[in-house]
Amino acid sequence: MFYGAGDRSNPHPRRAGANMRTAEYLDREVETASLKLVQRLQEARLAKQLDYLFARSLFYQEKFQAARIRRKDYRRLGDLARFPFTTKEELRESQAACPPLGKHVAAHIDDIIRVHSSTGTTGKPSFVGLTRRDAKVWTRLTARSFYTQGLRKPDIVIHAAGLTLFVAGLSSKDAIESVGAMFVPIGTGASEKALMAIQLLRATAMHCTPSYATYFADWIRREAGLEPRELGLKKLFCGAEPGAGIPAVRARLQQDWGARVTEGLGNADMAPIIFSECPDQSGMHFNGQEFVRVEIIDPESGEVLPIEAGATGELVYTSLERECVPLLRFRTRDRVAVLGTSCSCGRTSFKLRCIGRTDDMLIVLGVNVFPSAVKEIVSSFHPRTTGEIQVVLDEPGPKVVPPLKVVAEYATGCSDLPALKDEIERKIKATLSVSASVDLVPAGTLPRYEMKGQLVKKAYEDIVAKTK
Ligand SMILES: [Zn+2]
Repeated sequence: MFYGAGDRSNPHPRRAGANMRTAEYLDREVETASLKLVQRLQEARLAKQLDYLFARSLFYQEKFQAARIRRKDYRRLGDLARFPFTTKEELRESQAACPPLGKHVAAHIDDIIRVHSSTGTTGKPSFVGLTRRDAKVWTRLTARSFYTQGLRKPDIVIHAAGLTLFVAGLSSKDAIESVGAMFVPIGTGASEKALMAIQLLRATAMHCTPSYATYFADWIRREAGLEPRELGLKKLFCGAEPGAGIPAVRARLQQDWGARVTEGLGNADMAPIIFSECPDQSGMHFNGQEFVRVEIIDPESGEVLPIEAGATGELVYTSLERECVPLLRFRTRDRVAVLGTSCSCGRTSFKLRCIGRTDDMLIVLGVNVFPSAVKEIVSSFHPRTTGEIQVVLDEPGPKVVPPLKVVAEYATGCSDLPALKDEIERKIKATLSVSASVDLVPAGTLPRYEMKGQLVKKAYEDIVAKTK
């Protein structure tokens, strides 16, 4: 019913409310459905997904047995909380114990049409397989996310992000093409090619990480002597790391590129893009109504939190329609904050922002600090700062002995540096409740990244390297 019911098949909004500014959706019915309707749909889909897990997944059969949970324990959506979580470590162990794809793969290998991978901390790829049906779901979910961000058929999109094994590579191609827009596969580390393509094809949009959008703007000024905003891009679709949702970073990118900047959020083990911002730019809408069940949990206790404005916690995903890698209550380690449950665009799904990843989190005298929050504060001092920062760790985290050491770049021409240092330190203390010691360095001192940015410098590794 919902699947494939595109905007074009139903050009008339059912009820255009007074504040329904831009009534344009890829899947109007599901994107504007009531919470109750979405829950009913998810409840039924989850029942089917559980039937499949109990019948097909050796990984979950063993897990459910260990947890003494039976199929009949699920009747309503709320019963999901009785089931055990799944962690990334378990998937890695499963793949190592049962190569090539792991015990958690529930489809026959002959039915798998593609594999992607994410590179873990160990450097070994963690594979994610797709059946034809899975690929179709990813395409629709990704297309809906891009469409929410404002992608339309006439767009010419420069894909300046990972293209090969990266989950949001070929899936973005499929999604962008499915909307009828033009996909230009540039990949990473190819700024010359990207600039040429933007100019020759008169591109209207670019898909990349916010780090790359920042890096590429500097590169264009330096290498081509051009102003990025003269190139005519209208839309920047950012993702793969927090950044584009930080107000000061977004303002800077929009200024640099003369384009609207929106961000998306996905997960290598669930789907390439699951949340994305509409042109209202007030947080990322949940776009996976019939494909993914989302829970937000207290990361310490595992307790499920109500999804309401102001809630913060860890994102947990359950697939509702997946054949190859069906995952139940998968802990993403992404820390998010719910920003709202209604929107001027008319979408009824909740909106959130990603604060950071648990893996990046630091603890200063019991206070949790995400490096992206430090970046947000330093960025707010633009134009006196460039917004580039690094948190320096002298010892392995997450515990940090205060003060938190922060290196931040001041902008060229900024004079009174002692005052700037003092103001930043005070704002960090006031906002994050931790003492910081800020070391100001000239613009261009810190490394720039073409893929994801690195906000933490592990100085202790350099010390170890030097003594070897
Ligand atoms: Zn919206």
